Amino acid sequence: MKIYNTLTKRVEEFVPNVEGKVAMYTCGPTVYHFAHIGNLRSYLCEDVLEKTLRYLGYDVKRVMNITDVGHLSSDGDTGEDKMVAGAKREHKTVMEIAKFYTDVFFSDCKKLNIKTPDVVEPATNCISEFIHMIEVLLEKGYAYKAGENIYFDTSKLKEYFVFGNQNEDELMVGVRDDVTEDTNKKNKNDFVLWFTKSKFEDQALKWDSPWGVGYPGWHIECSCISMKHLGEYMDIHCGGVDNIFPHHTNEIAQSESYLGHKWCNYWFHVHHLNDRDSGKISKSKGTILTVSFLEEQGYDPLVYRFFCLQSHYRKPLEFSFDALDNANVAYQKLKKKCLEVKAEAEKNSDTKVNQAVFDEYDAKFKDALGNDINTSMAMTLVYDVLKADISAVDKLALIESFDKVLGIDLTVEKEAAAPSIDPEFEKFILEQIELRKAAKKEKNFAEADRIRAELLEKGVVLEDTREGVKWYMS
Ligand code: AMP
Ligand code: ZN
Repeated sequence: MKIYNTLTKRVEEFVPNVEGKVAMYTCGPTVYHFAHIGNLRSYLCEDVLEKTLRYLGYDVKRVMNITDVGHLSSDGDTGEDKMVAGAKREHKTVMEIAKFYTDVFFSDCKKLNIKTPDVVEPATNCISEFIHMIEVLLEKGYAYKAGENIYFDTSKLKEYFVFGNQNEDELMVGVRDDVTEDTNKKNKNDFVLWFTKSKFEDQALKWDSPWGVGYPGWHIECSCISMKHLGEYMDIHCGGVDNIFPHHTNEIAQSESYLGHKWCNYWFHVHHLNDRDSGKISKSKGTILTVSFLEEQGYDPLVYRFFCLQSHYRKPLEFSFDALDNANVAYQKLKKKCLEVKAEAEKNSDTKVNQAVFDEYDAKFKDALGNDINTSMAMTLVYDVLKADISAVDKLALIESFDKVLGIDLTVEKEAAAPSIDPEFEKFILEQIELRKAAKKEKNFAEADRIRAELLEKGVVLEDTREGVKWYMS
């Protein structure tokens, strides 16, 4: 298996630390809002990577964190904690919004046939581990206290910018555009390991530490949570390209300083999904492009998975509804053919699979995916199998096998589903409508208006009718 490694900027042969086993880590979502389909492109490509490794016979252990504290509005450690801002926006507690958006995230993943990682760990579960790592970094002289925070001292490292010898300017290309200065730092790239007072007044979640009451920085989460479950050596670390700097660069700096040896061998980064019209896919402006939104427009979520598989994970992907419509037509046509093959094969169920034929096509499929996860080539193999002069039984066996990685339900018959809404989200809407009803009964119109406005912000329009409250998505 060959894979592109951001660390060396090359496609390399994949050799795990322990033969046959893969320790894999994924940066999980910050659960302050819905995941947009751009975020989900990253998780979808990482899912294909994991399934490819399993298909090739590796025993994979995959760990993911849930960021429920410490990720500030700027990746440069300034601004407000995204979770606190989300809680304020929705007049909820941080833990309430963390639960709500974590549930919606996994429900979206399920719709896209993205497997849940073996271990999912929220950051707020691991505060003592974060404190321990920071204590060691202070003892070793890699960290310092300045102003009210504990910082990592990047000047203590021989090499801070390790990703492919990129220089600082090159790295800044992938950076979210909101990195700003913090005057307490000794060096421009130093980052916060532990926050005390400065952002403290507003912070809902805070813990005792040797440096006073406070809360952890974002980067420390992933180092600690991965080591907690995968040990001191990791094979593959994944994320979107915007994670390269500063997040992954900082993870490497603190992990290797703490461990005293190399930490992770391969870094897998998925390029962004961009909106054809507005450029960026955003959570803050206009309609958030979510899986539920696609469903409301009548698309099967797997059409989006199919759409993503047609392009390479290392290239930016342009999203538009025209492109999704084209993918929809191609997907429905392909699925129809696969279901015809299935019906034909079921008529000949006593015919055995020709192992030589199976192995020949399966080897080509493995080659395509083993070539830096070339999913469009792997998709071509499905078409080749359909066209091949082989039995329907062989075709079905191959397609069902390939679909273990592709995950687009090629031979699964589905009722033509009405556009649906995430069940968790629907439950939430109905609860809010009941609360609004109760508020109106108590003549608390301010509260009733607040609930209506909050739902509207989430795209839900309420209409008071004679038959009661009706709602629809805007
Ligand atoms: P967040 O919840 O903001 O921490 O992001 C979750 C994941 O989505 C991270 O791995 C990001 O790198 C990734 N990501 C953010 N925006 C996009 C995008 N437009 N396309 C693909 N991946 C993205
Ligand atoms: Zn991370």
